[in-house]
Amino acid sequence: MTEKKHKKLLLINPFNQSKRDELFDLRSISPPLGLGLIAGLTPDNWDIEIIDENFEPFQYKEADLVGITALTSAAYRAYEIADIYRKKGIKTVLGGIHISMRADEAEQYADAIVIGEAEAVWHQLLKDFEDKKLKKRYVGELKELKNSVHPRRDLFHPDYSYANIQTTRGCPMSCDFCSVHTFNGSKYRERPVEEVLDEIETIKDERLFFVDDNIIGYTSSSANRAIRLFKGMIERGIKKDWYCQASLNIADNEEALVYAAESGCRMILIGIESEKVDQLKETNKKMNIKIGVDHYEEAFQNIHKHGISVLGALVFGLDSDSLEDIKNRTKFAIESGMDAMQATIVTPLPGTSLFKRLENEGRLLYTNFPKDWEHYHFLEVSHKPIKMTPHELADAMQECWTDLWNKKTVYKKMLMTLKQTKNVKAAAWAFASNTERHNTAFGKQKSSWDIDKILGMNYS
Ligand code: SF4
Repeated sequence: MTEKKHKKLLLINPFNQSKRDELFDLRSISPPLGLGLIAGLTPDNWDIEIIDENFEPFQYKEADLVGITALTSAAYRAYEIADIYRKKGIKTVLGGIHISMRADEAEQYADAIVIGEAEAVWHQLLKDFEDKKLKKRYVGELKELKNSVHPRRDLFHPDYSYANIQTTRGCPMSCDFCSVHTFNGSKYRERPVEEVLDEIETIKDERLFFVDDNIIGYTSSSANRAIRLFKGMIERGIKKDWYCQASLNIADNEEALVYAAESGCRMILIGIESEKVDQLKETNKKMNIKIGVDHYEEAFQNIHKHGISVLGALVFGLDSDSLEDIKNRTKFAIESGMDAMQATIVTPLPGTSLFKRLENEGRLLYTNFPKDWEHYHFLEVSHKPIKMTPHELADAMQECWTDLWNKKTVYKKMLMTLKQTKNVKAAAWAFASNTERHNTAFGKQKSSWDIDKILGMNYS
């Protein structure tokens, strides 16, 4: 009896080509989890391969079906690749956050698009493909996160610095510049802790990133879930160094910090956005307003006490920002207790209130879509600010990045982290984060730091 031939599913993670060889290194440090999940959902009678343009430029490969994901800045590249396959008559499916936010645009470039979360519709889509009845649109409803499939991590490129995992989805907040609540819904959905722990036990990497937008959530019940997760890692003897994203309220939760640290937490990314209330109000950053800008320093110190470093995310170029504000925010970042610094230009992504507002006001700088999505990547000015020209903002940001990530500041921050956290690994993680951004600000070719080596050293 002859064996039934396997079909080939090719999954592609595209990269914004406009910047490939320029100053900025936009490579995501996180493996393409969404594609891994799609692979995990696909039955065994399919052979699956992931082409990851973060590492290797796309080269044509044969396939029966092609699936391409896209963040906004890589959407044009996704459409280019989709075009190559469609011209050869190979069915091509597009999905991911940009596709979900710009469905009318995306469906012109695909045989089918997936809007929303793919788990709910992927099996049906494959069945329709096999029956030659592929529909144009599949809308994945938001489901409870129980019995989640594990991503096929064996298909990820081996050079990623971290493994990643998702334990919650959705956010009840509605920050002006964020599309998470539009894509994943405003309900905070949690995976059962035991399921997450089972999945972590399958991960071989020593370093882990919890991709959740906020691992601790906004209620005492969600904070307790996070604590159970950290305790579970300790009880099961899981030995990993990890980092996560969380809202500022994690700093007030002693118990969460104790167990986070004990289970291997080295760094927490917190959306600080601004040191001024005006900008927090503009962005609708309710949690930071509630806790108060005067308490930032206390929050950083509380986290440090547990041997964990803080990666503070700041946003620049808001309507309420003057050039003076940009200088002041840069100074704040350097002088504050935050260990690693992320500084991005406010970017109107589709699906955000910010995008709608700026579009209505005729303040988007680039509107020749889809090609112009290549400008929407947080390191380029893509809108007309109010209190300065786009040029002035771009120049001010170059100055800001130079001030934040020159070698002197980066070393100074590392020594500060060491002193405050008394934890070599926490200092190494913050240092690695700053050096990665040094490479961005000063040009990746000129970089003398190797992030993998910094993280991979034996600090025990
Ligand atoms: S920025 Fe964070 S807190 Fe604000 S809506 Fe997005 S995920 Fe929620």
